[in-house]
Amino acid sequence: MGEKVGFIGLGIMGSGMAHNLLKAGFDLAVWNRTASKMEPLVEAGAKAAQSPAELADRCDITVICVSDTPDVEAVLLGEQGVIQGIGSGDLVVDCSTISPIRTQALASTLAEKGAHMLDAPVSGGSEGAAQGTLSIMVGGDEEQVSRAMPVLEAMGKSITHVGGNGAGQMVKLVNQILVVNGMLALGEAFLFAQAGGLDLEKTLQAVEGGAAGSWALSYRGPQIIERDWRPGFMIDLQQKDLRLVLEAADEFGVPVLGCSTSFHLYRTLQSRGMGGEGNHALIKALEFLSDIRVGSEG
Ligand code: NAP
Repeated sequence: MGEKVGFIGLGIMGSGMAHNLLKAGFDLAVWNRTASKMEPLVEAGAKAAQSPAELADRCDITVICVSDTPDVEAVLLGEQGVIQGIGSGDLVVDCSTISPIRTQALASTLAEKGAHMLDAPVSGGSEGAAQGTLSIMVGGDEEQVSRAMPVLEAMGKSITHVGGNGAGQMVKLVNQILVVNGMLALGEAFLFAQAGGLDLEKTLQAVEGGAAGSWALSYRGPQIIERDWRPGFMIDLQQKDLRLVLEAADEFGVPVLGCSTSFHLYRTLQSRGMGGEGNHALIKALEFLSDIRVGSEG
């Protein structure tokens, strides 16, 4: 394959995505702030870079998947940032979920160096990242989207070019409105089922294949029943996305009642030290309100 690819941010999502780039045959460089997380990738054939700048210097296409807007800014514009090593004509593909407005500013900063940027946030959870079945919503120039397509196709199954720089991040916020309201619905439904004395597994089985079926129900429903709160997607990161939704909705004058309710429910879990648990743990906030407990341990 012609273009050299680098990957920055080997967390829950990035590690699976980077492995899939290797499997697709890309000559891959990796960098992660916590160096030990690079080891499994290096064992699988990737080359470790010393800094984002060195990685960008070696690569034509740099993929980023880190936590929040300031983190993308740090790896791109910091002292050892991508911008120090990037060449004219190179491409940055940002798969993190961050501010649409600041994404546009970052694209302009890179353009001053003759480099291109696509925002390409993803959906599909840790499972989708590991299996290469993510949905990817892409903002940026058509030509760069075509160029990035082999990279995106190695990580995702549904890739949609939705508009210019920042549009991918806007669509991701739409995605998050749907995800969060789904988690709230899951919480209410399982609590209701528990209080009504139903067998939760049978209830899940009965509703999963009908009009109420969803990714969240099939993947996170069983986790709720087993009280397995390990994160596919951490509450702390979910809150970051909700903040972006609430800010934009305020600007647009759009009511987002489910999102604001969920934001405050998640906040109560964060203040009880549960910010590192998965976003399906939203049901625990409803348990505290009702004094009803769902499912059983292990
Ligand atoms: P994660 O497991 O917490 O990983 C975060 C990654 O970002 C780690 O590699 C971390 O490095 C790195 N990082 C954070 N701040 C950094 C900084 N200032 N400088 C350098 N590296 C930094 O999170 P994740 O679940 O993979 O999520 C990553 C992104 O994907 C987020 O924007 C999230 O919203 C989005 N996303 C997640 C999911 C999901 O289901 N998990 C789904 C769709 C989208 P260290 O290892 O050194 O901490």
